[in-house]
Amino acid sequence: MIDASGKVVIPGLIDAHRHTDFTLVQGLFSELGGGELLEEALALYHTAESTLGDSFFEAAWQLACLRQLTHGVTTVNAMDFTPALGAEAIGESGLRGVIGPELADFLTPASADDQLTAARRFIETHHDTYEGRVTASIAPGGEAGCSRRLWEGVAELRADYPELRLHTHLYDSAEADTMAAGSGADDPLDLLDRYGLLDERTLLTHLLHADRDDARRIADAGAHVLHCPTVYSYFQAGERTWFPLPALQRFGANVVIGLDDPFWFDSWDLVQEAKHARLLSNFEYGAQRWSSYDLLRMLTIDAARALGLDDRVGSVEPGKRADLVVIDVDTPRHQPYSNLPSVLTNTVTAGDIETVVVDGEVLVEDRAVESMDVERVREAATRQRERLQAHTGWETSLGGSTPPDGSILRRVSARPLLRAMKQYGRGVVTRHTW
Ligand SMILES: [Zn+2]
Repeated sequence: MIDASGKVVIPGLIDAHRHTDFTLVQGLFSELGGGELLEEALALYHTAESTLGDSFFEAAWQLACLRQLTHGVTTVNAMDFTPALGAEAIGESGLRGVIGPELADFLTPASADDQLTAARRFIETHHDTYEGRVTASIAPGGEAGCSRRLWEGVAELRADYPELRLHTHLYDSAEADTMAAGSGADDPLDLLDRYGLLDERTLLTHLLHADRDDARRIADAGAHVLHCPTVYSYFQAGERTWFPLPALQRFGANVVIGLDDPFWFDSWDLVQEAKHARLLSNFEYGAQRWSSYDLLRMLTIDAARALGLDDRVGSVEPGKRADLVVIDVDTPRHQPYSNLPSVLTNTVTAGDIETVVVDGEVLVEDRAVESMDVERVREAATRQRERLQAHTGWETSLGGSTPPDGSILRRVSARPLLRAMKQYGRGVVTRHTW
């Protein structure tokens, strides 16, 4: 029994698209430009992968789970290169997560076949574990990061595991059509279609360079759109375009919200992310594209529908699992109020979140985290962050961070994607390095 009088109880929030591996770089990149960020991120990732080992990524997942909890995000849809560590961290912390091993043979040294084998092993081992709180997805990185062989293997995976979501990035660069042509398709949607990957179990992230016709095809297929506004408006890497919201709305596509790479812009607040989605869409397309209540639905039931979890979570009603967040709005910061959805999407911050329940278990009570050892998580994150800096030469101070002299990119052997970037310029892939 939880006394929530004077408080607001909402369904647990759902982050519909996030990467986690690199949580511990937070703050290093905050003042970089988009192109600089891309180069340094690639170099840092390869350094971390080759020299820091599992303990670095384990600490990253733990810190991410802690932040998720304290921000009232009870479910995350993650795409990462360390999915097994993620499954364990999510499961042990009591949270709910859909985790996809990111498949991208143009970005990482492992071959397409090796990555597909590892993904199959991940699904067999981790799907539907922790009383169903942890499930798997099939997560090809997108048209820019995957070879034709990889797409073929993804189609085989999907045929073998039809109950899983297909989670991918699409149209996140102006060269998306060119990259899809490399796999023998007319454009990225045609690529998915050819491999039988475009339907109501498909989650498409970004779509910044998609047009009205693409929006219609997405809506007709019943695929879901995962929108992550902050990272693009913060760094503005490449050509400035925005996803075709008016067309997506007109054709009835389900659009939901994700933080994407919160460690690049130093915020883990999903409610703020929704607010940014509204402001930026209003700025681009005219005011009132979404109401406050629309945003709340996008963060809860619409996201649950996208992930195929709406029979379990996303709303407060009998028969569903109890994923709940208790928010304290009984303070002068909020009172007096009349429009509750507006308060929840414009005024509330993580500090107002009092209690978090997942699957009927109280994970945060009266702002105290019950399901994780907060001090241990903090110590491990600090220790691993120091290792990262020692290995890479990044220096930090209260005023920010200083990259090492010269790009450490030069000390890292080029991957196919890096060569492509040099050939076409930085616009080829504006982001997404892991
Ligand atoms: Zn992403």
